[in-house]
Amino acid sequence: MKILLIAGHGAGDPGAVGNGYREADLTRELVKLIATRLSKYANVTVFDISKDMYSYLKAGNGFNFKEYGYVVEIHFNAAAYDTGGDGKVTGSEILIHPQESGYSVEAEILQNLQALGYANRGVKRRNNLLNMNICKGRQGVSYALIEVCFIDDRDDIRLYERTKEQVAEAITSGIAKGFGLQAISAELPHPITNTPWYNDAQWWVKELGIADGTRPEEPATRAEVWQMLYRLGQKLGL
Ligand SMILES: [Zn+2]
Repeated sequence: MKILLIAGHGAGDPGAVGNGYREADLTRELVKLIATRLSKYANVTVFDISKDMYSYLKAGNGFNFKEYGYVVEIHFNAAAYDTGGDGKVTGSEILIHPQESGYSVEAEILQNLQALGYANRGVKRRNNLLNMNICKGRQGVSYALIEVCFIDDRDDIRLYERTKEQVAEAITSGIAKGFGLQAISAELPHPITNTPWYNDAQWWVKELGIADGTRPEEPATRAEVWQMLYRLGQKLGL
């Protein structure tokens, strides 16, 4: 199975801020912790951490989610307004698209997080999230946005500081159990790949029908380049 991990925010957008942390830093750190573990069960790709998927798609760039069987985006929630700590953890929730047929994987993840002390706020359907609407709504690929805990709740963040390795484990084992994935030998995990630098161009040429978007690293002949230019010319009416 191929799984794409996305770290929320970044590329100039810090996301939510609280308790001395920036969401964009926490999401990147956790994505790394998950990728290492999850690569024992699946082929893991991490979306280029120098980019923010949201602003990337909002700018009109395409992304081929169809290459993946499951997409997970990591975020940290805000608006608990508890920077002093009241002894109560606000907790975790997972957002999914209205067209998602079930959420056994996400329920599994939340149960695992609950066992670590994160209150289970449940799986919620949302229809107004850009990345999710493109991934699941337009391309039909299952997508989960995990709000790990509240960055502006002192109790959540204290718990997270102590348990982030276990949080990565909880998310990994929830995905593995939910999809019935078997661990391969720990000595030989699947390689963790990053989305390639030409991803947007690859998607664009395929969408426009100028090239099929396959074998990206192979050289093209002059005739093939002529053909691609010809197809583009036809589209432009030249
Ligand atoms: Zn966020």
